[in-house]
Amino acid sequence: MDAVLYRFPEDPVTDCLFCRIVARQNPADIEYEDDAVLAFKDIYPKAPVHILIVPKRHLASIGEMTEADVDAVGRCLLAARRIGEAKGFGERGYRVNINTGPEGGQVVYHVHFHFTAGKRGSAGG
Ligand code: AMP
Ligand code: ZN
Repeated sequence: MDAVLYRFPEDPVTDCLFCRIVARQNPADIEYEDDAVLAFKDIYPKAPVHILIVPKRHLASIGEMTEADVDAVGRCLLAARRIGEAKGFGERGYRVNINTGPEGGQVVYHVHFHFTAGKRGSAGG
């Protein structure tokens, strides 16, 4: 799915919330960034620590993933490990989960990993 709408060639706008956050067109409380990944606080946290980890390149859902997306998705998992260690959860542990499709509870159609931590069995969103 191509979520980018072009009004003017030099002024791309997108209707995807997480693409807008990646482009700094919408605000977010950013926790981690590298060349492939952005991670920011979930605005409705469901655990003491609840961070969303997204590939910078738009991918609507795991249901649309192809081999071209393997690196980006893997980089999100590596970011989860780094975030977990940076926040002191490397030994204690944390949960990383992906909701996919309507019955999987996916609401935002830009792939995101829910990183939740801070209590035993931290509920993923
Ligand atoms: P999902 O149900 O897996 O699609 O998760 C979407 C998540 O995005 C939910 O946990 C929401 O609380 C979160 N969310 C929605 N809008 C924002 C936003 N603007 N900034 C940060 N998190 C958001
Ligand atoms: Zn997107």
